[in-house]
Amino acid sequence: MAEGRIIKALSGFYYVQAGESVFQCRGRGVFRNKKITPLVGDFVTFEPNEHNEGYITDIKQRENELVRPPIANINQAIILSSAKEPDFSTTLLDRFLVLIEAKGIRPVIFITKIDTVKGESSAKIEEFKKDYNNIGYEVEMVSSKYPEEIPELGHYFRDKVTVFAGQSGVGKSSLLNALNPSLTLKTGEISSSLGRGKHTTRHVELIEVHGGLVADTPGFSSLDFGEIELERLSACFPEMRELQDQCKFRGCLHHKEPKCAVKNAVEIGKVPLYRYEHYLRFFEEIKTRKPRY
Ligand code: GDP
Ligand code: ZN
Repeated sequence: MAEGRIIKALSGFYYVQAGESVFQCRGRGVFRNKKITPLVGDFVTFEPNEHNEGYITDIKQRENELVRPPIANINQAIILSSAKEPDFSTTLLDRFLVLIEAKGIRPVIFITKIDTVKGESSAKIEEFKKDYNNIGYEVEMVSSKYPEEIPELGHYFRDKVTVFAGQSGVGKSSLLNALNPSLTLKTGEISSSLGRGKHTTRHVELIEVHGGLVADTPGFSSLDFGEIELERLSACFPEMRELQDQCKFRGCLHHKEPKCAVKNAVEIGKVPLYRYEHYLRFFEEIKTRKPRY
């Protein structure tokens, strides 16, 4: 018996990495009874043979999993949000942050195409960076046009499994290619995989980037709050989460309740107004989709 991690799933085969070797494996009965399908990212036990093939016999308990792309045990999601083309949007950024927080995954923010903004627009983006840093998020300004600065991003990836998130055109493929120049042969494949976004589900692969692994397909492309309950929404905003014990009412939704610590923090400028407005907007969205009786 050996242990390893599934790094790729293709045509019924699971490619399990164990040390320096990759084994082409199939699933075997034991875990099938538990109705679990192996996912890329799973830690597994397998029976190897001398031809670098094998059978997966067991799957370790997952820390988390995504449906699209189907991948388990993700350590972080890097949200790419471009400074321009498409324009920087805190609404969209907050939407991704909520979706990622709700999954219990650590979000990191990369503001891309930073080479395209100057002067006032650049100062504005710096202000947003400060706001998000204050909330506790790491924010990095990046440009794939300056590949010499890319290695400085390496530490974000080391020893982690990362999923990229971000709307089409923000520079996900460009960054991935810049991060792993040895991918040049496969560039077309990866770009098209990233570009296809939501259509691609069958093929997922974890690609080595600076001592870590990055999914070749971006996550959180559906953007709707389907699984999130109204009561859990404010917990997806760290700066509100830390205040909720101070609200007068237990289970305060920071909406119309009096003596609400969150609303108070918004009034004195401790929580940015736009963050609270997004909270209210998402709140309405969840409420109208899933009416509570
Ligand atoms: P994806 O859809 O998120 O994978 O985005 P792409 O990587 O395909 O990039 C979309 C467009 O933005 C392409 O035309 C890229 O050349 C351009 N782009 C990507 N990164 C940068 C950057 O850092 N600076 C500039 N100026 N353009 C970029
Ligand atoms: Zn409250």
